[in-house]
Amino acid sequence: MIQLYVPLNFMGMVYREIKQAIIDIEKMFEVLERDPEVEDVPGAKPLAVSAGSVRFEDVRFSYEPDRPILKGLSFEVPAGKTVAIVGPSGAGKSTISRLLFRLYDVSGGRILIDGQDIKSVTQASLRASIGMVPQDTVLFNDTIRYNIRYGRWDASNEEVEEAARLAQIDGFIRMSPQGYETPVGERGLKLSGGEKQRVAIARTVLKAPPILVLDEATSALDSHTEAEIQGALERVSRNRTSLVIAHRLSTIVGADEIIVLDQGRIAERGTHARLLAADGLYASMWNRQREAEEARERLAQVDDDG
Ligand code: ATP
Repeated sequence: MIQLYVPLNFMGMVYREIKQAIIDIEKMFEVLERDPEVEDVPGAKPLAVSAGSVRFEDVRFSYEPDRPILKGLSFEVPAGKTVAIVGPSGAGKSTISRLLFRLYDVSGGRILIDGQDIKSVTQASLRASIGMVPQDTVLFNDTIRYNIRYGRWDASNEEVEEAARLAQIDGFIRMSPQGYETPVGERGLKLSGGEKQRVAIARTVLKAPPILVLDEATSALDSHTEAEIQGALERVSRNRTSLVIAHRLSTIVGADEIIVLDQGRIAERGTHARLLAADGLYASMWNRQREAEEARERLAQVDDDG
């Protein structure tokens, strides 16, 4: 009995490791496919983050030779501050986050972190310093605990649960039949877009990076979920250099600076109040979103009354 149990248990461990390796290889290929040219320069040093300021200097970029996406972009995210990028679909917002994470190299200009060109440092050290909350979070076919611990493998159970509380996903997990041991995936916990994003926030809390990049999900969230995510984000981005790629303007009203991107160029920049007063592109986007939200709320009201 014991003899049988041991090898099976061992095989379970091996299986888990193989599965993890497969997932990592998939992720590796995903990155490699995106840009096989991103390489460490010979003798690249690790990034030394002190304050954690991020600076884009005249950044130009195109995925394809004849189609420029970013056409000379300069801005700074001072250490500990939050800068939000907004703008019409296809303006190049998510491209900015991919460039900062160095999934691609810039075609012109440079990106600096605490004065160091990100091209000159090792990719591993760069990515270790940035917490990325992507639009679409990859979840593993494993327990919810494992999925959160992915942020930092040596985190204790208490730390995993504390991170989940900060990300406001702890209540949801505790309501599941096996709590933190509930498997995620086809036969277990199925997470909505908003819940997945909160798992990504919990991972980031564990990773505790000096720089945070949030690429907000495009999909509309209900106002309760949005408020929960908003609360979670405010907590993780506090005192951390944060770049927020925003689709819903309501989430970035408090940003230190809002950059309005249009066709790869900065069309406007300023605080929410100043941009509203300027009555330009931002103000018209804001008014459009408000009208859409009000219409949605009226519809919900009709549903409730009916
Ligand atoms: P959205 O608000 O819809 O998410 P966005 O402002 O974030 O849009 P990006 O995702 O940065 O826009 O894309 C900018 C442009 O680059 C788009 O026209 C898009 O089609 C193009 N693009 C994005 N990824 C690639 C790629 N891998 N290869 C070629 N073109 C791409």
